Amino acid sequence: MQSHGTHHDRLHRRQALKLLGLGLLSLNTVGTSRAWGALTGLAPDEARELVKGSRVMMGNIPITITVVSLGRRHDANKAIAAAFAEIERLEGLLSLFNSASEVSRINRSAGQRPTPVSYETWDVISRGLEIGRLTHGAFNIVLGAASQRWSFLDNQHVLVPEEVAELKQESRIEDVILDERRQAVLLRKAGMVIDLGGIAKGYIADRAKAVLLERGFSSGIVATAGDLVLFGTKPDGKPWRVGVQHPRKPGYHIASIDLTDCAVSTSGDYERFFTKDGVIYHHILDPKTLFPARECQSVTVVAQHGLFADALSTGAFVMGPQQGLAMLAQSDLGQAIVIDDRGGVSASPQLEARVQFGAEAS
Ligand code: AMP
Ligand code: MG
Repeated sequence: MQSHGTHHDRLHRRQALKLLGLGLLSLNTVGTSRAWGALTGLAPDEARELVKGSRVMMGNIPITITVVSLGRRHDANKAIAAAFAEIERLEGLLSLFNSASEVSRINRSAGQRPTPVSYETWDVISRGLEIGRLTHGAFNIVLGAASQRWSFLDNQHVLVPEEVAELKQESRIEDVILDERRQAVLLRKAGMVIDLGGIAKGYIADRAKAVLLERGFSSGIVATAGDLVLFGTKPDGKPWRVGVQHPRKPGYHIASIDLTDCAVSTSGDYERFFTKDGVIYHHILDPKTLFPARECQSVTVVAQHGLFADALSTGAFVMGPQQGLAMLAQSDLGQAIVIDDRGGVSASPQLEARVQFGAEAS
């Protein structure tokens, strides 16, 4: 973050050269109304067709749900309330911050016994492990003990080598054991902590979308910080426009992309971090070192489902630009826009042609 100017200039040079024509999706400004206009590119009469609800949930994360009401404003509000209720229910199963959640129960039983879980918790954990395999371990759902020790929001502690050695023993994906017959999860070693922070928001957004569809609303957006699930179209029948945020210039879009029926997630080093002795430490850890992954400033993934967009953006961030993009191309599960540690932009070929450039305030 120190040399923003340099990164920024480089980005703009690249844009001018039309090397890639890509930027970074700025998904965490979605909740504000100014951002909303920029995000959707809506005319005022179209905006009247939208019904919107916002809440802060899941450990202080703003969530905004929007549906195209087609004249059913009252029903739309009821559908949005039902979607929030579903989010709350899932938060009650998956959150690390809720001591009664199934994830917390699994964590308390670490090194002791398997915990039978609901279908939903099973689904997120088993898919999280799948993405762990796909990313060669870069995406790791048992980094909770390490993240807690770093304590990005509170103590802000830089790990010392002895701690890293000890925490590595508690961070091995192979020590997450799934008992399919009993639909139960065991953490083999005491001290292990499942943390679904890199995947749960996307999954929860998928489920909220499903509630809206069930209630007959076929167009809308579910947005959590960094994760969007888009379905249907704007009231005028055109795709939703998603703003691409500059990783070093908060509140600025450097590009936009028109999308429909997909999910978009951004993992960025600017989302949660602290600075100590002039060094920035952020919340996305490389499981190999248990220190913040250093090869990217941000990764934005477009995928079919929120769960995949969310987990793959975190995984690709850790893998770095080249390996991350190669993994996505090989798996065919998503496409990405990657900003590397020096501000350089690269992207999956399918996305390149679809992104529009232009720096603008969100
Ligand atoms: P996201 O913002 O989706 O990229 O997720 C980041 C969050 O996922 C962090 O705040 C941690 O809770 C968790 N996390 C950190 N590093 C990893 C990793 N390598 N794999 C999976 N989850 C991680
Ligand atoms: Mg993620």
